[in-house]
Amino acid sequence: MGKTIDLDQLYADALVWDAHAGVFPNPGVDLNLLEDWRLAGTDYVSINVGFDVMDWRETLATLAAYRRWVVDHPESYVLASRVADIDRARAEGRFALSFDIEGMNALNGDINMVSLYHALGVRQMLFAYNLNNAAAGGCHDDDSGLTDFGRAVVREMNRVGMIVDCSHAGHRTTLDIMQESSQPVVFSHSNPVAVWQHQRNISDEQIRACAATGGVIGLNGMGIFLGDNVTDIDTMQRHVTYVSDLVGPEHIGIGFDYSPDIDVDIGVILRSRPDYWPAGQQYDSKDIKHAGPSQLPRLIAKLAARGFGENEIRGFLGENFRRVAASVWH
Ligand SMILES: [Zn+2]
Repeated sequence: MGKTIDLDQLYADALVWDAHAGVFPNPGVDLNLLEDWRLAGTDYVSINVGFDVMDWRETLATLAAYRRWVVDHPESYVLASRVADIDRARAEGRFALSFDIEGMNALNGDINMVSLYHALGVRQMLFAYNLNNAAAGGCHDDDSGLTDFGRAVVREMNRVGMIVDCSHAGHRTTLDIMQESSQPVVFSHSNPVAVWQHQRNISDEQIRACAATGGVIGLNGMGIFLGDNVTDIDTMQRHVTYVSDLVGPEHIGIGFDYSPDIDVDIGVILRSRPDYWPAGQQYDSKDIKHAGPSQLPRLIAKLAARGFGENEIRGFLGENFRRVAASVWH
């Protein structure tokens, strides 16, 4: 008989780390939407400032706008450069964030952009967004693999201290990236394909390779990556325990890809670019559902019932991603 865990207490004092928000980046976005995370007990989120669908200049404009918003809200928000900033923010009752970019089109073919983005607060970059680009192959494309430019980008990210993120890239490309990187590599928001068949989900081979780098796989809360547009606790638990059973509970975390209910019809955006969001991959589902941080207390209760102990739950909630960031960011 193990001792009973006080899950309310655990959730209240655990570090809660969401490795990727799914807000469509735009300079006009009002970051007050981060209150959804803060009020749900999340301590840190990585929010995307660009993706391959956008022009790289719009990514810079989004960065400028988001940085300004954080500077204007110092009482509640901190732009984190290092893990120590997140620890300090928690101690002060403030919410920490940093930025990610989904796809290397944001570099405009220039390797020097990596250190510029790092200086502006980007702490995680993905190599492709569903389609091939100059650096990498995408998960909804024929996947040309990691290019010479992409290999140079991996090395530069390792050098400047940015988390290498394989979500949205193609199968072969992700294996190339993980072989090239000298640092732990993550899939910030990807689910196991063995639980739900989808081109955005990842194979056992990818999960094992990620774990071998010391990396973490973030549970994606989008209904179409979890199952047939479902976000129930049992389904999420199956994804978490599948990864945990395969490679160990120290390699699973949260990357909910969550977007608060704002006046954006995701379906309209997805249908407007059938190249990036192709037919046959559920993107045309009516009212795509989304799990979010408010579901975490019920999810960890389910994980506890499935045998997760206190340390495993703390790892899932945030300590696993914190471990990666602590070794990569510098
Ligand atoms: Zn994404």
